[in-house]
Amino acid sequence: MDDLLAREGLRALEERVGRRLVVEATRKVLQGLRGRISSGEISSVSVEMLEKEIVAATESAAQPSLQPLINASGVILHTNLGRAPLARAAIEHLGETATGYSNLEYDLERGERGQRDQHTDCLFAQLLGAERTLVVNNNAAAVLLALNTLAEGGEVIVSRGELIEIGGSFRIPEICAKSGALLREVGTTNRTRLGDYAAAISDRTRLLMRVHASNFRMVGFTERPDLKELVSLASERNVLLLEDLGSGCLVDLSSLGIRDEPVAGASLRAGVDIVTFSGDKMLGGPQAGILTGRREPLEKIRRNPLFRALRVDKLTVAALETTVALYLRNDWNAIPALRMMYLTREQIAARAERLAERIAALPGFTAALEDGESVIGGGSTPGQSLPTRLVVVTHAAESAPAMEAALRRSTPPVIARIERDRLLLDLRTVFPEQEEDIVRACAQLANNPEV
Ligand SMILES: *Cc1c(COP(=O)(O)O)cnc(C)c1O
Repeated sequence: MDDLLAREGLRALEERVGRRLVVEATRKVLQGLRGRISSGEISSVSVEMLEKEIVAATESAAQPSLQPLINASGVILHTNLGRAPLARAAIEHLGETATGYSNLEYDLERGERGQRDQHTDCLFAQLLGAERTLVVNNNAAAVLLALNTLAEGGEVIVSRGELIEIGGSFRIPEICAKSGALLREVGTTNRTRLGDYAAAISDRTRLLMRVHASNFRMVGFTERPDLKELVSLASERNVLLLEDLGSGCLVDLSSLGIRDEPVAGASLRAGVDIVTFSGDKMLGGPQAGILTGRREPLEKIRRNPLFRALRVDKLTVAALETTVALYLRNDWNAIPALRMMYLTREQIAARAERLAERIAALPGFTAALEDGESVIGGGSTPGQSLPTRLVVVTHAAESAPAMEAALRRSTPPVIARIERDRLLLDLRTVFPEQEEDIVRACAQLANNPEV
């Protein structure tokens, strides 16, 4: 081991990444070598080969685990891939906030302690007409906090058609149970009427809750009351109405052919007391849960000790504040998730054509174009899609799954789609400057097929 570590190449590596990583990698490589010798797999190995293995193992251990990648899947808000990419302006503000001190909880006018909510509260007031807005770690936390504050020890009425599960095991009945509120189910899976809610309201009722069925669609013999009707019922019977919107759509997407995606401002205008949604779904900002609406219930939520446990950090505040400010300027193009939604099939086709030409020029490759569909994802707009133009990549010697795996393991990783045993690239979710890396990853795959 000492002889190996004394070699020129490993000493240079040690300079760069520190002794600990090199020693650990050397130990592992030697251990593997002993295993291979004792199993009879090999009888000897050159020192040069060993050194090469150690360098590779060290380099890989020195890489951060969380790495940027290229999303060529066409799923804009891919939860596994980190949902919304942030706007350039949000990243800049986040960077300057992270680097030094800030007035996160400091009132510069008065020279005394302030609240971290102050930075986003008036932006959401302008954007949505909200009296008060709070921000917590994510929307699951927002729902938990609202239920716990407003309905602990009492009942919350939810339609049986809205007892949903979101990815990552967020389930309405379980969140209700954890909040200490008793779930009172009404109606049936497919039909719930206003009368079902009305009949269930008692002196134990604290909340009516409406949940957006983010990730599935119910069609056929279905019914649920209008939001307006629920608002009237709640105010007549003196209970609060909470709406979990989930996706946090702030602009009307009907021009894209996207239907039934509720817009947060519309719910507040209809008279919902508290609306909750995610920061990193259709809003296109950082992971966060937004609680917004009427002052009185939100001040109560603000005083809950759980709020402190679920609060966001300064980086989230910085990124969210900047993203929401872009909405106030109608600068949707600056928000990558929205920009990707608004890309037309023709815009994508022009880029796809250029990429296909470059890939087809590589030895062994062919690349064709065909019409396809991108999806918004992130538990929104189920069953709906955006028209796109796909690059279908084939290789003389490699199967689609083998290519998919090789692209996934390249640097940076490229995440492609496999459909009907074909490898597809959807440029809707690829930043133009990343196209070069896709070509490079394909070229490497061709030179080095066993990667
Ligand atoms: C996505 C979603 C949640 C969970 O939001 P996170 O920000 O992922 O915690 C809760 N409710 C609904 C309706 C959702 O769509």
